[in-house]
Amino acid sequence: DHSDYVIETVGLSKRYGRKLALDQLDLRIPRGRIHAIVGANGAGKSTLFRVLLGFLPPSAGTARILGRDSAALTPADRARIGFVNEEHTLPGWLRVSAVIAAQRRLYPRWDQRAFDEVISHYHVLPEQKVGQLSRGERAGLNLALALAQRPELLVLDEPTLGLDVVAKRAFLESLMYSNAADDCTVIYCSHQMEEIERVADNLIILERGRLKHMSAPDDFCARVTHWVADIPFK
Ligand code: ATP
Repeated sequence: DHSDYVIETVGLSKRYGRKLALDQLDLRIPRGRIHAIVGANGAGKSTLFRVLLGFLPPSAGTARILGRDSAALTPADRARIGFVNEEHTLPGWLRVSAVIAAQRRLYPRWDQRAFDEVISHYHVLPEQKVGQLSRGERAGLNLALALAQRPELLVLDEPTLGLDVVAKRAFLESLMYSNAADDCTVIYCSHQMEEIERVADNLIILERGRLKHMSAPDDFCARVTHWVADIPFK
């Protein structure tokens, strides 16, 4: 079951009626490091993740995640994948301590030190309610929870959307200084080039359901910034 790639798609297509959202996509993301995925609105990122996580069947081709066929993922496979997005769905009335207790039961690999390491960048106390936290603190809490799961793959989907500059910086630093993050492969979806330049080792650009570009971001940022300005990022 071991694969050198955390994500591997071959000829992957997905249509919605007549709309082709993924167009014979061949994408291989190697294990380790932080990989950014960018693409204009509608480039197919959300569709790609829905297919990869097995929530939608492909129209053609194959999708594998952590060496497994996306269409046949088990709950144990899913527990190897962490996910953070900009929606903070934890109920506001829950105390942080109750959230931790619930996650600890849910994830067999729960790692309190990984949690503590991330949350130490924030003034979040166990007795606080989620609803009392700022947006930045909730983003940090979500990151801490996802990393404490000790995932092999961590997918961050626009995790800093709506945060101010200070909270964004805190989020990126708590990600970059986390030992748990070093042990997993991180996929970072964002439209914010300055963030990608700071955190990503590898940059993947999707355009109309196809792979447009893949390289180290420093190459990219030096050479390609002028035409990225033309992409209608949201
Ligand atoms: P965004 O950044 O806006 O989320 P995206 O890169 O994630 O964009 P997708 O949401 O995957 O892109 O959409 C890819 C294409 O498929 C778009 O043209 C979109 O309009 C279309 N699409 C997505 N979901 C559906 C659906 N359920 N039915 C019909 N068309 C869809």
